[in-house]
Amino acid sequence: MNRALTIAIDGPAASGKSTLGAALAERLGYTYFDSGVVYRALTWLALERGVDVRDEMELVRLAESARIEVVRPTAGDGRQYTVLVDGQDATWSLRTPAVDHNVSVVAAHPGVRRAMTEWLRQIAGGGAMVMVGRDIGTVVLPGADLKVYLTATGEERARRRYREQLERSLQAEYDQILAEMRRRDELDSGRAIAPLRPAPDAIILDSDHLTVDEEIDQVLQHLALSEVATR
Ligand code: C5P
Repeated sequence: MNRALTIAIDGPAASGKSTLGAALAERLGYTYFDSGVVYRALTWLALERGVDVRDEMELVRLAESARIEVVRPTAGDGRQYTVLVDGQDATWSLRTPAVDHNVSVVAAHPGVRRAMTEWLRQIAGGGAMVMVGRDIGTVVLPGADLKVYLTATGEERARRRYREQLERSLQAEYDQILAEMRRRDELDSGRAIAPLRPAPDAIILDSDHLTVDEEIDQVLQHLALSEVATR
C-alpha cells in the first residue's frame, strides 16, 4: 500500500472500534486516533468546572479555550494513549460513570460538534490515519479511503465493558452497564446532527462473530481492492 490512506471506523459504544482501530493502525504503521476522547475530555472539564452540560454556549467557550492533547502513553497501566487536558493527565478520568452519563448530551450540541469536527479534520489532515468514532465516515471524513461500521449486540457489548471494568478493579454491574449503554446509543443515534449510522459506502463488520484478526483481514482485503480500483 503506497498512499497514506485515511480509514474511518464507526460504531456504537464498546463495539470493538478501539481494539480494531489500534491493531489496524499498528499493522499499517498509521496513527490511531479515538475521537470519543475529545467529547469525553470536554465533558470531564465541564463537570470539573461546574458548567451545565445543557449550556451550549458555555460548552463551546470551554471547547475553544481548553487545551486537549493526546500523546503516547506516559504510564504502563493499560492505556492506549495519554490524554492531557490543560496539562493535567485526565486519561482515566474520562472513563468514569459521570462522564459516560453526560457525554452524549454534550456531544449533541451543534456548536460543540462544529468545533470538534474542525479539530478532528485537522488531526486527520496528513493521512496515514485510523480514526474511530460515531460520525467519522459520515461527517468528519466523508472522503475517507475506507469506511468501516462495526456492530455487535447490546448484550455482547455490555459484557465486554463489564469485563473491562473488572480488569481495572472497578465495581461493575452488568444490568446497569447495559442500560447506560442503551441510553447512550439512543442519544447518539437519535440526535439531529451527525447521528450514529453507517455511511452508505461503509463495510459492515459484525464483531459478535469475528475475531480481531478476522476483522483486520477483511479490512485489508477491502483496502487492497480499493487500491486496485483507484489505480
Ligand atoms: O467512543 P466513546 O464511547 O468514547 O465516545 C463517547 C461519546 O462521544 C459517544 O457516546 C458520543 O456521544 C460522542 N462521540 C461523538 N462522535 C464521535 C465520537 C464520540 O458524538 N465521533
